[in-house]
Amino acid sequence: MGWVTDIKLKPQVMSLRFSLIIDPMFEFQIASNTGGKNAGSSNNRARTGVFSTPHGDLLTPVFAPVGTQATVKTLTPEHLKNINATLVLSNTYHLYLRPGDELVRDMGGLHKFMQWHRPMLTDSGGFQVFSLAQTRKIDDDGVTFKSHIDGSTHRFTPEKSIAIQENLGADIIMAFDECSDPNDHAYSKLAMERTHRWAERSLKAQTRRDQALFGIVQGGVQADLRAASAKFIASLDTPGIAIGGLSVGETKKEMHDTLDVVVPLLPENKPRYLMGVGTPEDLINGVARGIDIFDCVLPTRLARHHSAFAPEGRLNLMNATFARDERPIDETCDCYACKTFTRAYIRHLIVAKELLAGTLISIHNLRALIRLMERIRVYISDGSFGSRVPELLKQWENNAKRKQTAL
Ligand SMILES: [Zn+2]
Repeated sequence: MGWVTDIKLKPQVMSLRFSLIIDPMFEFQIASNTGGKNAGSSNNRARTGVFSTPHGDLLTPVFAPVGTQATVKTLTPEHLKNINATLVLSNTYHLYLRPGDELVRDMGGLHKFMQWHRPMLTDSGGFQVFSLAQTRKIDDDGVTFKSHIDGSTHRFTPEKSIAIQENLGADIIMAFDECSDPNDHAYSKLAMERTHRWAERSLKAQTRRDQALFGIVQGGVQADLRAASAKFIASLDTPGIAIGGLSVGETKKEMHDTLDVVVPLLPENKPRYLMGVGTPEDLINGVARGIDIFDCVLPTRLARHHSAFAPEGRLNLMNATFARDERPIDETCDCYACKTFTRAYIRHLIVAKELLAGTLISIHNLRALIRLMERIRVYISDGSFGSRVPELLKQWENNAKRKQTAL
């Protein structure tokens, strides 16, 4: 009888009905663990999986390019599809201020607005409020801040952050959280406790069932706080769990130690998202510690500064060394930039201040990290990832710093 009624409904109403019946729609299936005698040890928790979202399946581990203002800078969605990007992140704080989340909603939501029809993720706006806003006043209910654009006053609460993210309409959304100075134990404890209360309020505020709301683990680099936060956020039974407050000035060892505390306390059957972390070596070390989702502005930011990932180390393509270099950025890369253009041509574009330079280097840098993740997924599947970590880190170590000349 219900189906007869449904057939008369408009298509969009039918799909809403259907999605409610199918709930939960965010299934995470682990395809393979690294296996072997070291499986589950601190540096061998890697796994591949499939996270199903309304805009398609994500093969994990996955690296997400960042589209801060509803665009991955200098790239079209077609470029992103051609480099096999599957997940794109956008920023709640920026889109709320400009053009406004209600405008995005009225234009059909973020996927339609920016014409990206694969999975999307939005952050909660918390990190930008704490790092970008001109002034901010935090209380237990929320944060009042002044826009970095025009100084106007705004207020975010957990309920407001969720309402904005529901208007934007990404597949994966984040609970509102507070990011602390990682080395300040007293403040980290306060911020963590507030983050927990805000996570509960974020969950209560959610009205859309077609968005996966992730809780966020905080707690600075304090092992006791991180353990408490991991246990609390895991107890909320969200479809995935994010780890926030890292890559904010702590050492690599502190980041690794924190992941070694947090990950074993998280459920196996939920995707784990390490927020804002994504140098090549961070991806390798993070996957080894059981992380499934990463995002970072690094590849596109480097591109705008003429810096490209390459086998011999990071290249500054503005350097005169490349003026007559007939090689592509990376002879082993399958991206459009490397298959088509020489280093000499890209250097010319940079010197002539042509915008195409940023586009070509962005295509290459993003493809380099996405290709790294594709290789890592193969290695996990064939059981060789654990033994290949030293070799992978060695391959990428020169890209940690800029190299001025080609070898
Ligand atoms: Zn390339």
